[in-house]
Amino acid sequence: MPPPLQTTIAGSLPKPGWLSPPGQLWAPWLLHDERLVEGKRDAVRLALRDQEQAGIEIVTDGEQTRRHFVTTFIENLDGVDFEHKRTVRIRNRYDAEVPVVVGPVARRHPVFVDDARFLRAATTRRIKYTLPGPMTMVDTLYDAQYRSRERLARAFAEILNEEARALEAEGVDVIQFDEPAFNVYFDEVRDWGIGALERAARGLKCATAVHICYGYGIQANIDWKKTLGAEWRQYESTFPLLAASAIDQVSLECANSHVPLELIALLEGKDVLVGAIDVATTRVETPEEVAATIREALKYVPPERLYPCTNCGMVPLSREVARAKLMALGAGAELARRELPGRAKKGSWGSRRGV
Ligand SMILES: [Zn+2]
Repeated sequence: MPPPLQTTIAGSLPKPGWLSPPGQLWAPWLLHDERLVEGKRDAVRLALRDQEQAGIEIVTDGEQTRRHFVTTFIENLDGVDFEHKRTVRIRNRYDAEVPVVVGPVARRHPVFVDDARFLRAATTRRIKYTLPGPMTMVDTLYDAQYRSRERLARAFAEILNEEARALEAEGVDVIQFDEPAFNVYFDEVRDWGIGALERAARGLKCATAVHICYGYGIQANIDWKKTLGAEWRQYESTFPLLAASAIDQVSLECANSHVPLELIALLEGKDVLVGAIDVATTRVETPEEVAATIREALKYVPPERLYPCTNCGMVPLSREVARAKLMALGAGAELARRELPGRAKKGSWGSRRGV
């Protein structure tokens, strides 16, 4: 049994400046062809190194091989036209030029399977792989084919399941679906969102997770958060549905958030990935601040089910800040772990390098 309070991250980390210009979403690649393949792998090695040094136990590839957490996956599917884009409102928040669904969607070839194999070989730690969730995929496209968000989501769920099974076969320990759209479309979450998510995870024997957040620290999200009032209770309607679902883990935002932490109690029986690092600020948390967030969450979830994590992906931050935040996460979790009853002075993890 691993010790309690196993650390992990939501998924992404900033890329090296030689691979992709920092600080922008959908940033272009600066390398091409074989050099790009090699560069991505070098970037994964560095992302792993940073996580391992910080004492992060369940690591990701930092999403170094994709330009964007949703569109890179979709680019690899049939049925979506990336040439002739249309403008839609994403998560009711900001307009973006998006690709158009013009035919039946299909996965003709594996998307991240080679990358997952490389990741598996590059670290001895447990690995998590992230995929976009079906509802968030639908919300990032203009649909000229299905004319139904639910039908398109269910088609994507089947495709995601194919990819997830292939990732699992490469030795991935956790497959996480990113569903920020779950914080916006509450009726749809209830009516078909959870069902589509479960379809995407069907038959998987590895741990399955869903990440639901309030987004990166980009301006559109900061403006949206200002409209949410003093208490953010968006999770309140979704968590009971997730608690009754087949998904094992829920990743949520807590640090510097207006989310009342007692809402975590609605996830009884699930593993909870507690966001203890705010990704919307460049200020680096102290280990004590991280520990304080974990202590608060421990009131509502037992330590063996609590995974200290980041609020969201760290891709918009500088590498220096992201690295410091990783170190704070690892050190803060270690502080909190030492306070657990019966855990003091047991050195097997307390003496681990990097904490
Ligand atoms: Zn997020």
